[in-house]
Amino acid sequence: MSTRPIFRFAPSPNGELHLGHAYSALVSFDMARRLGGRFLLRIEDIDVGRCRPEFEARILEDLAWLGLEWEEPVRRQSEHFETYRDAAARLEDRGLLYPCFATRKEIAKAVSAASEPLTDPDGAPLYPGLYRGAPRAEIERRRAAGEAHALRLDLERAVAAAWERAGADIAFTELAADGRHEAVHTAEPGRWGDTVIVRKDVPTSYHLSVVVDDALQGVTHVTRGRDLFAATDLHRLLQILLDLPEPLYHHHGLIADAEGRKLSKSHEDRSLRSLRDHGATPADIRRMVGLRALGER
Ligand code: GLU
Repeated sequence: MSTRPIFRFAPSPNGELHLGHAYSALVSFDMARRLGGRFLLRIEDIDVGRCRPEFEARILEDLAWLGLEWEEPVRRQSEHFETYRDAAARLEDRGLLYPCFATRKEIAKAVSAASEPLTDPDGAPLYPGLYRGAPRAEIERRRAAGEAHALRLDLERAVAAAWERAGADIAFTELAADGRHEAVHTAEPGRWGDTVIVRKDVPTSYHLSVVVDDALQGVTHVTRGRDLFAATDLHRLLQILLDLPEPLYHHHGLIADAEGRKLSKSHEDRSLRSLRDHGATPADIRRMVGLRALGER
């Protein structure tokens, strides 16, 4: 078996790639090169309503234009729903997930009734626990009737179960961009509340598919933006519960626009495509995001 580190870039094909994506992809690719590692690409297209094959084709084209090379085949998450379903079933069989039939409206109502609603690291109100501990008969009846529902993590139980398995704090190792160990962080999955692990509309969630795929693809080094730093708490929790190996992490800084806002697809920030159409070269893109050319000191 290869002992080379394995890196990946995992974009969602729901829009054009912008400078922030280019930076993220290049950080991962450069780090893989520097550490003699392999580089994989994964298309995170579980959101079948928003992801489109045209965007995927453009992503592959943009990344190749940037000078990235990845191993084939590219893993496409929408082709692996069964695998995620199995992973969720393993958690559910141990009583770590519960069905939640609540609508957005019901959740919003319960949240506004709370005197001091708590928020998760993304700033969203914590799920108020509707259906946690609901009578079994009612749950079974509604499930048998085919009522749409999500599966949520019973956070308290999950943390207790992880503690039992790991026998220690849930933690992760953060690396600097040059691959040196920077710090060991204690994960605090508790701040996410009873997160959705299986969505109502698709048989998985971002969190579940990421940890399952990183393990299946043998990813040893997860590099991604600081905006996902807190998500790593949940990922480490799921990895322990599903007996998956622990990757090393590098959360890189985010590329901001002139006003200091984080770039996003929804803001129609300058796409790589439009920069390229205006004459930018891959070397210009590297300069724009503050990266040296590979091999440059
Ligand atoms: N698909 C995620 C995104 O486009 C990245 C997931 C990850 O790197 O863990 O933001």
